[in-house]
Amino acid sequence: MIIAIDGPSGTGKSTVAKGVAKELRFTFFDTGAMYRSLAWWLLSTNVDLDDEDAVAQTLDNFHYEIKSEGQERKYIVNGEDVTHAIRTHEISAAASKIAIYPDVRHTIVKIQRQFGLHGSAVFEGRDMGTVVFPKAEVKIFLTATPECRAKRRYLELVQKFPDQKETFSLSQILQDIQERDEKDTTRAISPLKQASDALLIDTSHLTAEQVIQKITTLAKSKLPNPRRKHFFYFLIYWAARIYFKLFFRLKIHGLEHFRSGAAVIAANHASNLDPPVVSISCPEEVHFLAKDSLFRKPLLGALIRRLNSHPVARDAADAHTFRLILNLLQNGQKIILFPEGQRTENGELQPIERGLPFLVIKARCAIQPVYVQGTFEAWPRGKPLPKFSGKITCVFGSPIEWVEFDHLEKREAEKKIIERMGTTFRALKEWLESGAQGSPP
Ligand code: C5P
Repeated sequence: MIIAIDGPSGTGKSTVAKGVAKELRFTFFDTGAMYRSLAWWLLSTNVDLDDEDAVAQTLDNFHYEIKSEGQERKYIVNGEDVTHAIRTHEISAAASKIAIYPDVRHTIVKIQRQFGLHGSAVFEGRDMGTVVFPKAEVKIFLTATPECRAKRRYLELVQKFPDQKETFSLSQILQDIQERDEKDTTRAISPLKQASDALLIDTSHLTAEQVIQKITTLAKSKLPNPRRKHFFYFLIYWAARIYFKLFFRLKIHGLEHFRSGAAVIAANHASNLDPPVVSISCPEEVHFLAKDSLFRKPLLGALIRRLNSHPVARDAADAHTFRLILNLLQNGQKIILFPEGQRTENGELQPIERGLPFLVIKARCAIQPVYVQGTFEAWPRGKPLPKFSGKITCVFGSPIEWVEFDHLEKREAEKKIIERMGTTFRALKEWLESGAQGSPP
């Protein structure tokens, strides 16, 4: 699902869009930051912003990356972190100036649509609902009086930079806002305007929290409910949950990180108990793979098929399995994979194999990391039967979003995904072993 939030500056778009994304566990994109980043780069390379041709000629050399750390975003332009540098008054004006050039818009819209391919997201900007995502499932247009917006911006600046309080002027901010509004609404290409099917919300007398609630309620009413499990799945899910809770004191941490929409749920692999333990720890229906020989066993085959498991010939690398996984992900489903490939021999974490990056690069989807502890002790490799009691813990980490790898070339992305997955497993293990305080990383 795409949620497009448009409106002039100072209407609380960023706060609201971030809040909605957090509430729904969607990815968040501040598209103004892209125009600002480009403006920053043009200024730092001394390109004359009034010279449309000069600006157009440099666009090919603009490399924009987003690094995500939980909800926080870092914007990198040609290797340099510009997250803070793009928030100045000078950059605001410059961004607004270059945003009127068709070549600039074309380049940036292309990047935005690419980002929109990777699952559910909230995009905030000026033309999200009208031009970039005309088919967005939810479209919102935020407004507020110019005076109210100027006051908000002033207070925001004072709060962020209290030592520079004297340099901020409310009347100057109001004037800037009016000038930018004029530029944004009257430009020939993609002017700021409400899409005919967008919901208009005047935020002048509403708190950010109230606006967030309005939008999330609307979005939720349009979302299919992935947490509704089909009857048989529901039955087995709860029976298994009660069983693991009673006999293995199953504990689940980090459910606040559980992401909505398509994702590969990547877990470390210590035992045959991992697939059932991870799937019953997930709050929604998930899919997994099982050896095809299991499907030929009369009762077991029927049972696991109804529990969303899919036959795999030898490993996840065969073409049929691969297409199946891609299909599931494209339909917004989640699939459990074990990126270490095989079960561990000694209970320790193992190197990440190439299967996970291969799949993630093809599907351009998020990874939902999970660290499982205790299944090795309950049923290690080589033992014919599991123990009948023990302690098992499942820890969900923050999702690894595709945007982190989107700008990378294939081989580089593969390397990064492997690295990122390895460090994530280690961080989750360390968090658990050092006392499981607060929310997992
Ligand atoms: O939203 P923000 O104030 O950061 O945006 C900076 C400038 O970038 C805006 O004034 C506007 O001119 C431009 N912009 C745009 N289209 C978007 C987002 C921002 O033209 N989708």
